[in-house]
Amino acid sequence: MKKTIEQIKIEALKELETTSDRESIDAISVRYLGRKGMVTKFLRNISNLPIEERPGAGKRANEIKKDLDKLFKEALKKLEARSSITTDNQIDVSLPGRTVRQGSLHPITQITWQICEIFTRLGFDIVEGPEVETDYYNFEALNIPKNHPARDMQDTFYISKNIVLRTHTSPTQPRIMEKQKPPVRIIAPGKVYRCDSDLTHTPMFHQIEGLFVDKRVSFGDLKGMLTTFIHRIFDEQTSLRFRPSFFPFTEPSAEVDIRCVMCRGKGCRVCSQTGWLEIMGAGMVHPAVFENVGYDTNLYTGFAFGMGIERIAMLKYGIDDIRKYYENDLRFLRQF
Ligand SMILES: [Zn+2]
Repeated sequence: MKKTIEQIKIEALKELETTSDRESIDAISVRYLGRKGMVTKFLRNISNLPIEERPGAGKRANEIKKDLDKLFKEALKKLEARSSITTDNQIDVSLPGRTVRQGSLHPITQITWQICEIFTRLGFDIVEGPEVETDYYNFEALNIPKNHPARDMQDTFYISKNIVLRTHTSPTQPRIMEKQKPPVRIIAPGKVYRCDSDLTHTPMFHQIEGLFVDKRVSFGDLKGMLTTFIHRIFDEQTSLRFRPSFFPFTEPSAEVDIRCVMCRGKGCRVCSQTGWLEIMGAGMVHPAVFENVGYDTNLYTGFAFGMGIERIAMLKYGIDDIRKYYENDLRFLRQF
């Protein structure tokens, strides 16, 4: 008995339901729609049908041929979509998880916090001042009047005639002293700016400033305080020396050197064979600075000191190029 075209369609659909790969779909397509396929054969044999049935059967067979072709193509598309999901975005649940790397504190932040901790234990308060500073606080209040040759010591970024990016953290001193009567015991960490860039200088760097004002504060107090600080930030074997120097806002002024932490004084490349490293500037607050803020210079004395935080970190960690701090190279930063 010859199958009707409707029976052929039903069988084709049943077979399609059982497929799960490209090969079997292709095979069904060939079996029904290929040159020797069942639908093709049916169309070819239409002339064997009684003459009145031929037009209807031919029309229906062509419809079914189109429908089946569409269904086979859709089945292939679905299969492709599914396989691209499983091969491209395959998740292997048995693999060990990838650890999320935690961020860490930048070495400059770490050293700043260490320095702050040492001084807060010595009774200092931490204060901060503005980075965009007036000419008055950056220079004049610190005994650096206009046209004073000391202004040549610092290459300044001027925002306008009277506004600068602070060249040191020292402007915090007059700002605090204007608001507070002695005793004053502060440290002021922060960013400072100078037109300078090479192996040991960057246009922005960090300083920490210290100020101690009270009755009968002496140079001996300064020396004792800085010796304690150096022993805590480096170690107890690190000795200090004070060299006479000049700053407009302190008198007398000193450069403070420490025994080279690399060679312990024998002489090496870091200390240029001298055995000593310059580490900070310090001195007794100049009476003119006290007069600017209205302190009685007969009653009060004080000392001040300031150091570059990058410099301390370079010596503590043995870093030879200051620019490494700001390149954000993770291989460098992960070492701290
Ligand atoms: Zn050395």
